[in-house]
Amino acid sequence: MRRKIVAGNWKMNTLLQDGMELARAVEQNTRESNGEALVIIAPPFTHLSRIGDLIGEVKLAAQNCSSEASGAFTGEVSPAMLVSAGVEYVIIGHSERRTYYAEDNQLLNKKVKLALEAGLKPIYCCGEVLEEREAGKLFEVVEKQVTTGLEGLSAADMKKVVIAYEPVWAIGTGKVATPEQAQEMHQFIRQLLVGLFGDGVADDTSLLYGGSCKPSNAAELFANPDVDGGLIGGASLKAGDFAAIVNAF
Ligand code: PEP
Repeated sequence: MRRKIVAGNWKMNTLLQDGMELARAVEQNTRESNGEALVIIAPPFTHLSRIGDLIGEVKLAAQNCSSEASGAFTGEVSPAMLVSAGVEYVIIGHSERRTYYAEDNQLLNKKVKLALEAGLKPIYCCGEVLEEREAGKLFEVVEKQVTTGLEGLSAADMKKVVIAYEPVWAIGTGKVATPEQAQEMHQFIRQLLVGLFGDGVADDTSLLYGGSCKPSNAAELFANPDVDGGLIGGASLKAGDFAAIVNAF
């Protein structure tokens, strides 16, 4: 049975001390609420190993990783380095990486494979921009992102993959997808997984919604049968809001 997951993407926010305080608060809230969701936080690279020591049952994610295993790639961080720092999950293909750093589906496929080889669990992001939705191309775009990004993975690999559907027009904009729009795309992705990997994998893969998710809308989004939780940006920087989302199932 697939897990309910709430993951916080801190992006390029918090200095180390603030990040450690936030992580302590997330750990405390998670322990006290004892909810059913798996809670993941993705702080900046510089905070990972310090925060890893503070978070108990909360899991640690990186926001990105290199597509290369090691060597002369100045400024890059390899999946194996992340594992050695205590990281368990890695966000791959966030729309900000796709847009600002020109990461395409082929490169992201390389990252997903390398992350899996190193023992990381990828949180693979997909989602259309507004023009694509308005042109009726949303399913085509997401299908390409999912099929290319996850190409060559086995059913066993897929047990470790989480998918986040994040309509780009909803990320950081305050515009949230309606529960119907989220469910429609999540159902589409699950059907896609049936075709690519079979019923069992499709059933067991956690599909997260991301895009302006907050305490006031999380419950109605998470109530959908194919929405298994959320990838949370802005609201993950406030421990109280994040806890309310974690407890919105
Ligand atoms: C994100 O960046 O993954 C995200 C969903 O951001 P926000 O919640 O701020 O829209």
